[in-house]
Amino acid sequence: MWIICADLEGVFVPEIWVNVAKKTGIEKLKLTTRDIKDYDELMKYRLGVLDEYNLKLKDIQDVIATLRPLDGAMDFVRWLREKAPFVIVSDTFIEFAQPLMNQLENPMLLCHHLETDATGRITDYKLRQEDPKRKTVEAFQSLEYKILAFGDSYNDISMLKAADRGILFCPPDNVVTDYPEFPIARTINELKALIKSYTGLE
Ligand SMILES: [Mg+2]
Repeated sequence: MWIICADLEGVFVPEIWVNVAKKTGIEKLKLTTRDIKDYDELMKYRLGVLDEYNLKLKDIQDVIATLRPLDGAMDFVRWLREKAPFVIVSDTFIEFAQPLMNQLENPMLLCHHLETDATGRITDYKLRQEDPKRKTVEAFQSLEYKILAFGDSYNDISMLKAADRGILFCPPDNVVTDYPEFPIARTINELKALIKSYTGLE
């Protein structure tokens, strides 16, 4: 029996911070886990930039409200949910993700959360746990499930390594160079074909 674990940003929805950067014109917010591998370092940097420009949670939520799932994402989510239990495991925050999850018909999401003060300033972020992507896979494996996982970037690697089958979906070149051991799918149809061949799910 299989459970499918997937990344969110860069797979089903656009990169949230990149789009906040575009909308606000703040170049410094364009960095992602593709650029800075250490997530804590990246988040502290981002929160510092938000303070520098006096951006509040509501400002970011306003940008996220304009985002739509990537092409084909909605149909792909439906397809996945028909095949097996399906979980999105993300390093985003529930305060950011909820509007996007509604558009994806609310598959199960495991992620982090933000802390704000009375003015709506984001004061801190709280990781649900350390190395959550790997631990999610291991938790489901402890229930005697096999895990197929896919994602696009560095923060997915521990999940892909722990999974029984891990696939890179539309990864940037530096991820491919650093982790040549993973099979790559560059379209949803290629990904569906790999999922079927690895799991036998029809
Ligand atoms: Mg991603």
